[in-house]
Amino acid sequence: MTILDGKHIASLIREELRAEVASIVASGRRAPKLGIVIVGHNPASETYVANKLKACAEVGINAEKIAFEDSISEAQLLQHIATLNADTAIDGFIVQLPLPAHINEQAILSAIDYRKDVDGLTPENIGRTVQGLPSIVSATPRGISELLSRYGISTEGKHVVVIGRSNIVGKPMAMLLMQRPYLSLPNLSAATIGNATVTICHSKTRDLKSICLTADIIIVAAGCPGLLTADMVREGATVIDVGITRVEDPNSPKGYYLSGDVDFASVAPKCAFITPVPGGVGPMTIVSLLQNTLQAYKQ
Ligand code: NAP
Repeated sequence: MTILDGKHIASLIREELRAEVASIVASGRRAPKLGIVIVGHNPASETYVANKLKACAEVGINAEKIAFEDSISEAQLLQHIATLNADTAIDGFIVQLPLPAHINEQAILSAIDYRKDVDGLTPENIGRTVQGLPSIVSATPRGISELLSRYGISTEGKHVVVIGRSNIVGKPMAMLLMQRPYLSLPNLSAATIGNATVTICHSKTRDLKSICLTADIIIVAAGCPGLLTADMVREGATVIDVGITRVEDPNSPKGYYLSGDVDFASVAPKCAFITPVPGGVGPMTIVSLLQNTLQAYKQ
């Protein structure tokens, strides 16, 4: 069994990005710039934004935090989105989710110019991904594709079970895997990503266990700690755990620990490859945002 070390692969990609941005700047052009919109003071969101700002700084991408109070109206936020769309100094921007309940997330995401949508969440980018056209792919599916590729794990001809059908992970992941090898991910040379036979599962799926037992690769993004257990995984499968849930634990220093969706201790011994939580998909997601920003800059 091999543990897929997302932390290590992400650090290699950061090195590549740092070199590329340095050569851009050395040639006299400005560095890429990312805008990060955050509304309110959700502690988890604040942490994610701080991590993204740090990751940008590490590779030489300029990043600007654009913070608004909870009291901002949907109309006012839409105005700011329009300003960012028109700002030629910003190559791409993201809106940190979740937004406060009085703001319609879909209305905000849909207002982003898809060429600046480095989270890959606009209907245009998702539609273009479905059609196999060049697009900016949501960071987590992009990161998982990169991780599989860099470990030489081809998905061609394999049966991949994706558990979860969110717009941010499950759906775009399934789309990338069922496509002919995908145009928008030019760095993926080590192994074929795409050409898989994909089954998408969700909370209403009957007999998840039987479906998972037929999988060569299982990608689980449900947000249910311990959902995937050893009896659901066949010998030699590859398991990608996307889940990150804060589980309250008075004995841990922070009062909680982070749990994936996989019962790692029992599942890992059966696997050919498996990702840990933390240190698997999470670091790949952050570095994919940087790759997407550079992609938007080049476009
Ligand atoms: P989401 O929008 O809540 O979607 C969860 C999906 O899982 C839904 O489609 C849901 O089905 C399905 N599901 C829930 N319980 C299930 C069950 N018992 N059996 C089968 N399917 C089930 O979540 P998300 O945004 O995709 O995120 C999923 C997890 O990944 C979360 O823990 C999140 O924190 C994590 N995440 C991690 C990263 C990273 O970088 N590592 C990035 C993004 C998300 P229904 O559609 O029927 O409700």
